[in-house]
Amino acid sequence: MSLDENISSPPEGGAQTIAHHSSGPCPTAGNQVRNDWTREEIAALFELPFDELVFQAATVHRQHHTPGQVQLSTLLSIKTGGCPEDCGYCNQSAGAKSGLKAEKLLDVRTVLQTAAQAKDRGSSRFCMGAAWRNPKDRDMPAIIEMVQGVRQMGMETCMTLGMLTKEQSQMLADAGLDYYNHNIDTSPEHYEKVITTRTFDDRLETLENVRNSGINVCSGGIVGMGETRADRVGFVHALATLPRHPESVPVNALVPVKGTVLGDMLADTPLAKIDDIEFVRTIAVARITMPASMVRLSAGRESMSESTQALCFLAGANSIFTGDKLLTTGNAGDDADEAMFKKLGLVPMEAEPRENQLEAAE
Ligand code: SF4
Repeated sequence: MSLDENISSPPEGGAQTIAHHSSGPCPTAGNQVRNDWTREEIAALFELPFDELVFQAATVHRQHHTPGQVQLSTLLSIKTGGCPEDCGYCNQSAGAKSGLKAEKLLDVRTVLQTAAQAKDRGSSRFCMGAAWRNPKDRDMPAIIEMVQGVRQMGMETCMTLGMLTKEQSQMLADAGLDYYNHNIDTSPEHYEKVITTRTFDDRLETLENVRNSGINVCSGGIVGMGETRADRVGFVHALATLPRHPESVPVNALVPVKGTVLGDMLADTPLAKIDDIEFVRTIAVARITMPASMVRLSAGRESMSESTQALCFLAGANSIFTGDKLLTTGNAGDDADEAMFKKLGLVPMEAEPRENQLEAAE
């Protein structure tokens, strides 16, 4: 029996599966990318028996991506700390008492040297993050030089610089920026419990500016911030109903850092950590609802077992950050990843410049 036959003929007595089929079309029945997901449909996916959910996600994954290929990105903090925003999970907020020292914007040469090293280690995308509410006009020339320099090395470029105006988005697009990361973080309802200096709608506005300028969108969030299952449904729903899905969807597990609002609240509460199975469920639901997007395992990976990561890959995750550090928190490390890839038979994905991706989408 092929995967498709099995999916379109649900096993007899599968109550959850039947409930799902009765509430809308089977998400794996075709190759279509939908933007009209309802919260009820997404909640029903979360409720599926785990093996059924992962099976559906793996099937969707194979319809849209080459299984076994994982895109590798390296993330560099180009401007660390002292951020005026108050994101409760972040040790770079000026209000956090994590002891992190604020630094100035790195010089272009240092950034390009680090990018060259990342390329040598197999990364196809170089992501640069600055702890800003938004970039100032005086920062833009250096930022543009960084984008152009990294692109000339044949790597995809990604930036995360905070909120962008239409004009700044266009400047970055003209410089050849491939991706812009701006996470919605969580559900619209849970958002103000995590961040108060900027609204959910502010986030959507920047995403719209980025999208309209022709840059690929990278947007996801963090689970394990004290949100409910309904919030995780709302988080996926907000992304899966955007007029066009983000090309890249990072799903982070909170890394509680002492001195941050959420870190202090959750660090000594072991049960507060997102359950591994619930994390894999979130990955699987993101994969099913945004079938063509790259779903990225991001922060929190270093504390996940290889088995949990393997389940995430099976459930459709196909992108990771490599290197020892993620901006300012720990990451799994290149050697550990190389060993895991060998064990699981995974291979790194080649870089694909933005022109090719845009042509493919047309
Ligand atoms: S997540 Fe970004 S915007 Fe929020 S405090 Fe940290 S650096 Fe600033």
